[in-house]
Amino acid sequence: NADGAMYHAKASGRNNYQFFKEVMNQTAARHFELESSLRGALAANEFELHFQPIMDIGTRRLHAMEVLLRWRRGGGELVTPDQFIPIIEENGMIVPIGEWVIRAACRQIMRWQGQGLTPVPLAVNLSPRQFMHRGLLEAIRAILDDTGVDPSLIEFEITETALMQHGEQTLEILGHINAMGIRLSIDDFGTGYSSLAYLKRFPVKKIKIDRAFIKDLEQSAEDRAIVAAIIALSDSLQLSVVAEGVETEGQYALLQRHGCQYAQGYLFSQPVPHSTAQLLLPRC
Ligand code: C2E
Ligand code: MG
Ligand code: MG
Ligand code: MG
Repeated sequence: NADGAMYHAKASGRNNYQFFKEVMNQTAARHFELESSLRGALAANEFELHFQPIMDIGTRRLHAMEVLLRWRRGGGELVTPDQFIPIIEENGMIVPIGEWVIRAACRQIMRWQGQGLTPVPLAVNLSPRQFMHRGLLEAIRAILDDTGVDPSLIEFEITETALMQHGEQTLEILGHINAMGIRLSIDDFGTGYSSLAYLKRFPVKKIKIDRAFIKDLEQSAEDRAIVAAIIALSDSLQLSVVAEGVETEGQYALLQRHGCQYAQGYLFSQPVPHSTAQLLLPRC
């Protein structure tokens, strides 16, 4: 009856609210818990780098590797960046942690060289906050000095959204990084609101097409058209192109046919620890 229905609506309304509150509390609690255990993580040496190959499509040989941060929480479970980068980006901890990543990547190159291996360039991600931090250039210079790494073996990946945020200042920072001999690439291309013609003003050599356009490449004529257009325009602007998230031979074949130079994705390898990554490096 109507009264009964009303009663149920009210009751479940209250339950929904109760449920919502609980979920919010849990989310907030989890956020807080993550944030406080992240505070000690750097000092406790809980971060590690994983490496994912970027392959040359024409030769199917290793071209470079992307450095991807992992958090070995409390020495146990491995936490991926989507679970903690937003937190440390928000609270500013990305600055020291990001610096640690750059240093650790440079050290890894030197260690591999010391073992008689020929390293490929390592691509390190820079987040927007890190990129805009005043101390960034100084930190990079110090790391290059301390480690003695060849700067041409380092690349920075910056998302187009991060690049679009700060106009002329962005251009200046990129110019300094470029002058140090470090290459720059645009990450997750196609997800922001920029155009390649605009980005051509930046001293960038490479763009990475976001996985979103690669995922359905075989099924979607529209995605094929977008990817083909990005590759064609990149070519005419003399930018090299990496396709992200390549998982199938079909996608690989399509990218090859469209003249894409590089590919990265589970088809070749997931991100792996340094001990596995080094098996891919040729001896001098
Ligand atoms: P990203 O730079 O776009 O990195 C590519 C992400 O795609 C990685 O996720 C990688 O594991 C994943 N991936 C690669 N191939 C495939 C594939 O074939 N299929 C699928 N489904 N995924 C694939 P990951 O390692 O979880 O990193 C996520 C994001 O976190 C990165 O996106 C990057 O924006 C950020 N990140 C990672 N390490 C760092 C770091 O050291 N510093 C900063 N600032 N950000 C980082
Ligand atoms: Mg990246
Ligand atoms: Mg990306
Ligand atoms: Mg991404």
